[in-house]
Amino acid sequence: MANNPQVLEKPQAENVSAAPARRKTFPVDYSEISLFKDISPLEWEDWHWQVKNSIHTKEQLAQVIQLTPQEEEGIRRSRGRLAVSVTPYWATLMDTEDPQCPIRRQAVPLAEEFNIAPHEMVDPCAEDRDSPVPGLVHRYPDRVLLLATEQCAMYCRHCTRRRIVGEKEHKPFDLSKAVDYIKSNHKIRDVLISGGDPLMLEDDELEKIIQAIRGISHVEFLRIGSRVPVTLPQRITEKLVTMLKKYSPIWISLHFNHPREITKRVRQAMGMFADSGFPLGSQTVLLNGINDKPYIMRKLMHELLKVRVRPYYIYQCDPVKGTAHFRTPVAVGINIIEKMRGYTSGYAVPTYVVDAPGGGGKIPVGPNYLLSQDKGRYTLRNYKGKIYTYIE
Ligand SMILES: *Cc1c(COP(=O)(O)O)cnc(C)c1O
Repeated sequence: MANNPQVLEKPQAENVSAAPARRKTFPVDYSEISLFKDISPLEWEDWHWQVKNSIHTKEQLAQVIQLTPQEEEGIRRSRGRLAVSVTPYWATLMDTEDPQCPIRRQAVPLAEEFNIAPHEMVDPCAEDRDSPVPGLVHRYPDRVLLLATEQCAMYCRHCTRRRIVGEKEHKPFDLSKAVDYIKSNHKIRDVLISGGDPLMLEDDELEKIIQAIRGISHVEFLRIGSRVPVTLPQRITEKLVTMLKKYSPIWISLHFNHPREITKRVRQAMGMFADSGFPLGSQTVLLNGINDKPYIMRKLMHELLKVRVRPYYIYQCDPVKGTAHFRTPVAVGINIIEKMRGYTSGYAVPTYVVDAPGGGGKIPVGPNYLLSQDKGRYTLRNYKGKIYTYIE
């Protein structure tokens, strides 16, 4: 059932993740979680406090949710790279009883992470091969990806960069070689700062990087790729936004996977970005049992538009080691696009892509609307399946 592309509609107003009959069990307020009961609202709103008090152990997690044996084993075995890290904020969004909770499944490792499928790879998109200097991936002619840090606020269990992400100790990268490379390569007009998560850096550390890159005359604009506004919205402070604004244009690429991630607190953070003039986009990873239904994806995209975030990509989950339990057939992704295109705002429909294993880059895959073409006669179908002819 779960992966049957024919399963279409399941209209449901609220709480789309709910198995309809079950009552959800969320803490109403952070103070209901014993770990955080004595925390003042001021501390709670302090992103440094959130990072310092992020959850890393089984004992801490057991105070938030009722752990299953699969989760306990997953936590025990995930040490070193991509260890467990759950911000207190994210912890309040997890269903305490339901192990299928989409918020919980993205953050709490399962024993399945240690089943390696034969085609899975350490570096599926061959980023290391396309790295001319440390911290830089140069795959496309006019743009580069800069990996500014190895840390994130929350370690997503489906992480594609798990080979480098998850260092406990934060050591600032030496990005001078990367900056020199961009300087000497005049074709580079777009620099995507990601990681890890660049918003884990202190404002002044991030500003140094941005300043160095914005100072390169052929770089037309920057992008920041971050999931921190979703997992740690407290990080979006007036001070941060004011700093970033000085280096406009900066496009901000977020990573949202489920409508429940768009909380009141996240809406506030998105409002600060949007009011300051940053164009916002979202990248979503297609995840088995989390967002693999058209009605969930549609709800997610609608909620994003309401907070001024334009859905950009849906990614097929990369074949990185230990993520087989998150992957769906490609047909599931194609069907999701099929069920959105035409039925809802064009702005709500992202491009579904497979990041080609071996380093071919992002390849769009989607429903086929061009049925045939012969001497300037195009046979097309519309979203409802009706056939039309276009003569050139
Ligand atoms: C995704 C990606 C980019 C940016 O690609 P766009 O399609 O322009 O968003 C750039 N470099 C690398 C290595 C990437 O993986």
